[in-house]
Amino acid sequence: MLRVVKNVLNHVQKCNYSLAVPKPHQNPNVLYSGIFINNEWHKSKSGKTFQTINPSTGQVITEIQQGSKEDINLAVDAANEAFKFGSEWRTMDASERGRLLYKLADLMERDGAYLASLETLDNGKPFTQAWSDVVGSINGIRYMAGWADKVHGKTIPMNGKYLAQTRLEPVGVCGQIIPWNFPLLMLSWKIGPALSMGNTVILKPAEQTPLTALYIAELSKEAGFPPGVLNIVPGFGDAGQALVENPKVDKIAFTGSTEVGKHIQSLSGKYNLKRTTLELGGKSPNIILADVDIERAVEYSHHGVFYNSGQVCCAGTRTFIEDKIYDEFVERSVERAKKRIVGDPFDLKTEQGPQVNEEQLEKVLGLIKEGVKQGAKLVHGGKRHGDTGYFIQPTVFADVEDHHIIAKEEIFGPVQQLIRFKDMDEIIERANNTNYGLASAIFSNDINKINYISQGLRAGVVWVNCYNVLEVQTPFGGYKESGFGREMGEYGLQQYTEVKCIITAVPQKNS
Ligand code: NAP
Ligand code: MG
Repeated sequence: MLRVVKNVLNHVQKCNYSLAVPKPHQNPNVLYSGIFINNEWHKSKSGKTFQTINPSTGQVITEIQQGSKEDINLAVDAANEAFKFGSEWRTMDASERGRLLYKLADLMERDGAYLASLETLDNGKPFTQAWSDVVGSINGIRYMAGWADKVHGKTIPMNGKYLAQTRLEPVGVCGQIIPWNFPLLMLSWKIGPALSMGNTVILKPAEQTPLTALYIAELSKEAGFPPGVLNIVPGFGDAGQALVENPKVDKIAFTGSTEVGKHIQSLSGKYNLKRTTLELGGKSPNIILADVDIERAVEYSHHGVFYNSGQVCCAGTRTFIEDKIYDEFVERSVERAKKRIVGDPFDLKTEQGPQVNEEQLEKVLGLIKEGVKQGAKLVHGGKRHGDTGYFIQPTVFADVEDHHIIAKEEIFGPVQQLIRFKDMDEIIERANNTNYGLASAIFSNDINKINYISQGLRAGVVWVNCYNVLEVQTPFGGYKESGFGREMGEYGLQQYTEVKCIITAVPQKNS
């Protein structure tokens, strides 16, 4: 068992670990709380501020300048100025763009312990997991830095009187809107490819977790990015919407709820047909066949649901288990959930911190109640953990049926649904019976069954005998209402370029 747990931890909790976990800063000082435009810190035009809260205690950390439409528009103007044809950024050698990103990654590494501590303070995630996010973000920025001078067009044979060549150019001014569950990692997934390909950026972090993004703003200045290339405006949904509505923004990249994603898509159509990429919710199936190594499958399935307090868009929240091993799987899942260490996220032993805020706490507790009401069997947890902060007990439901609300809605909390199935023919259809299509997994030792099921699943990723393995080299994104476009890998870069075809008349010998 210990060996299995260690393996899973290596893959899941410590993914991307090339750097040893440092000591956390117990009380990291917040250094930046303003609006970052043109490499300068500003107060909000409205004079408004908002509070960011420590979800472990419910206490206010600090006041943040609240960006709204006026501030967003200033940031968009700055990003347009920086993107002007002939500007420093537009004429910069592509290798130099890559070098600036490498420098940013080096500075993130220098300040990694501080960044991870800030993330733990603001989001509540255990420090070890915040550190994994920091390392993943550094790796991500470095990976994208490497691409900066390696993406280029083609020459295409055509009618001999003309010469055709393609150029891959930046899309332009990119508005990037990110959520609170992986604040730093989502920032790196967004700014890495955008800046590598020569775009300029206005990023709006989630209102719940602005702190690491603001620190990165200052690091980008230290790295040497020209003014206006990366602008960071903290604020609420209205600030995000102002980005979508501004006709001088060429592209929106959004990660968050399907509801807001749909709204953004319709607004983009209404305004200037912005390019949009949307990474939205999920209700991912995790299929366990009876031939499997149960210990391994239980451990991965546990992390697949409970990682980051369940606040993961690709969480495996519908665990389908083949009839023959169902009862044993339930028993072992409960045993594992009982051992889960919930508490102070700065303690290196902690596996689970709080939900991000009171709203999420209430939403998750409400869904748990609904699960009980509809007849699912609550076999572990189900309540708030303690009375300070927004912690929830690791919760396991057995005898869940496909029509139960907890098998349909994205819970975004530490709640596992164990669902029984009988045979392979039914499982593909049941797994696909959702509006979402972000992730999926199969646990089996039978290669024929694995190949069959993995081709039938309608999801952007299929993990086989593992879960939540996300690396910067591989594409990530959804089918159906989980959104469109891919992040990371070469596919992720494509979302930040436009193809221009230049066709030149070639003088002919006798003309
Ligand atoms: P959300 O409202 O979709 O927030 C995501 C981001 O969009 C935030 O930066 C948010 O700003 C911004 N935003 C909100 N309204 C906007 C608008 N009209 N135009 C442009 N941007 C806008 O998500 P949430 O309210 O924080 O969470 C709700 C649920 O979404 C969760 O319970 C969970 O089920 C799901 N969720 C999914 C993911 C994911 O990774 N796919 C991440 C987070 C949440 P504010 O911070 O001010 O709202
Ligand atoms: Mg919101």
